[in-house]
Amino acid sequence: MLFLRPLYRLGFFLMGVTLLLQTSHADASNATTVRIGVLAYKGAEAVQADWSYVRNWLVDSIPGHRFILLDFDQAGLTGAVHERAVDFVITSSGHYVALEHSDGASRIATIESPWALSPRQSIGSAIVVRDDARLHTLADLAGKHVLAVDPDAFGGYQIAARELLEAGVDPEHDLANLQFTGFPIQKIVHAVRAGRADAGIIRTCLLEQMIRSGEIGAGELRVLAPIAAKGFQCQTSSRLYPDWPFAALRHTPAELSKQVAIALLRMPRTADGYSWAVPADYQVVDELFRELKIGPYAYLRLWTFEGLLRRYWGWLLLILTLLVVWAVHTVRVEHLVSQRTRALRAAQEEQRRMAEEALLRQTTLDHTARLAILGEMASAIAHELNQPLAAIRNFARGMARRITAGRLEPAPLLDGTGEIVTQSERAASIIRNIRAFAQKRASEQKSVDLIAVLGEAIALFTGTHPQARVIWQPDATQRAKVLADPVKIQQVMLNLLKNALDAQQTAGHAQEPIEARFRVEASTYLVTVRDSGCGLKPEQFAHLFEPFFTTKPEGLGLGLSLSKSIIESLGGTLSAVANDNNAGLTVWFSLPREELQEGI
Ligand code: ADP
Repeated sequence: MLFLRPLYRLGFFLMGVTLLLQTSHADASNATTVRIGVLAYKGAEAVQADWSYVRNWLVDSIPGHRFILLDFDQAGLTGAVHERAVDFVITSSGHYVALEHSDGASRIATIESPWALSPRQSIGSAIVVRDDARLHTLADLAGKHVLAVDPDAFGGYQIAARELLEAGVDPEHDLANLQFTGFPIQKIVHAVRAGRADAGIIRTCLLEQMIRSGEIGAGELRVLAPIAAKGFQCQTSSRLYPDWPFAALRHTPAELSKQVAIALLRMPRTADGYSWAVPADYQVVDELFRELKIGPYAYLRLWTFEGLLRRYWGWLLLILTLLVVWAVHTVRVEHLVSQRTRALRAAQEEQRRMAEEALLRQTTLDHTARLAILGEMASAIAHELNQPLAAIRNFARGMARRITAGRLEPAPLLDGTGEIVTQSERAASIIRNIRAFAQKRASEQKSVDLIAVLGEAIALFTGTHPQARVIWQPDATQRAKVLADPVKIQQVMLNLLKNALDAQQTAGHAQEPIEARFRVEASTYLVTVRDSGCGLKPEQFAHLFEPFFTTKPEGLGLGLSLSKSIIESLGGTLSAVANDNNAGLTVWFSLPREELQEGI
């Protein structure tokens, strides 16, 4: 038996020829035929040459059976097993594991070869390169041109493919060219030697045999990245796998399997040193298939749900966990956001309530301040109202006298009633103004004609203070618009005029004119009220705008501080300056010009 004799042929299915060759040991014509399917990786003739020793031994050992060897390529042998066209198979370890999965093949013995210590470790892949090649590790093969036998060849591709993958070189993607040559396997060795490829994947021990037979020289090629394997007499680039098995099939009679197994184990060593051992464990081959996702694990390459699940369950679990974490995080964030939103709303509500309260307080305060001014002006108002009332009374009496005396000419009587109407309208107008001023209402900001509003305030003041002389001569054509509440501006102006008059009365010259002026500045309108009153002592000046600062017996000391806050709330300034020689005081305020505020 010579397992690796160099007789090669590719793609064959030669049952007929082999049958003819197997008559010598076939005994009686009524013997049961037992068909042994053999993977003919080196060609049909090699099958007979290599395995006839075994066949003859079985024929001799098990009487009444006619054993025949049928040679197949891998696909042919698989088909024959499916068809039950064979009773036993002798095939490569890889193919056997595939048949175990697909057809329930069951090993009964494993070849024991002379070059290995154990049948469990006797086949590997040798990756051969030229001795002078600058390739030293498996990783060096990335981007190189590599030859192999066939995608299904166990030692001739699959074993090496696993090693390459583990070295970080995916043979399907990372090589410049992966070329499958088919049988005979020696083609690969010759091609590498000739430099037509960078490396070649062959079954272990082939190189040593070719060197022994003189087919190639000893120093021409070497095995890439050889691994030390104890007791293994050839060089290998891969770990080692169990040798070929002899396997029974599902339909093979159990008794026959038993007899064959016993015979194989008893078979004496061949001249080349081969024999049969108890079946090895082919689990490692299974692992290789799983890792390469080939053979029974080819489904791992398919994008089916089950395939994905089997393949990526770890990742799926991680993604699922991340999704759960994300969901929990989202729910928590949502919860926090809604909590904060509620808190924010509550704070906003509180702020709105406080603003409302402040407005209410401000309105009340403004109202009080206006009432205070009116209070201070009360006697003046009473005096002013007295005038029209006295006039009305006089006219009414005069008319009554005329009527009593029978002087009923209509003209003087009509003059009298006309005067009464005029005087009562004057009184009504004073009351209307006072009522409008004293009304309690929220402030409203609008575009206001400043000159007109100041004019009205001055009219109200002089109307109620006949002793006061106010000089007010604005340019009638001038337009001065400000954004403000007109009543508040009047409140400020009345305050300043009242203070000016009080100061002049204190100084004893109430009749002196009070000068009210209006001027257009760069960005503001400026209003000044200048009196020739008592003025202020320097130490009083510092407290002028403080609330409740007053020097008057019935004063409240609120007028100026309120006026200042009104003007400042409109974006303006209120201040005072002593006149030259301390002859009275000038109080002034400025307000932003509305036309310059637009668009801000
Ligand atoms: P009140 O008029 O009730 O005292 P104000 O706040 O209007 O309150 O004025 C505060 C004080 O400022 C006055 O009491 C007065 O002493 C002083 N003052 C205000 N205006 C003038 C002025 N034009 N000339 C002199 N003193 C003034």
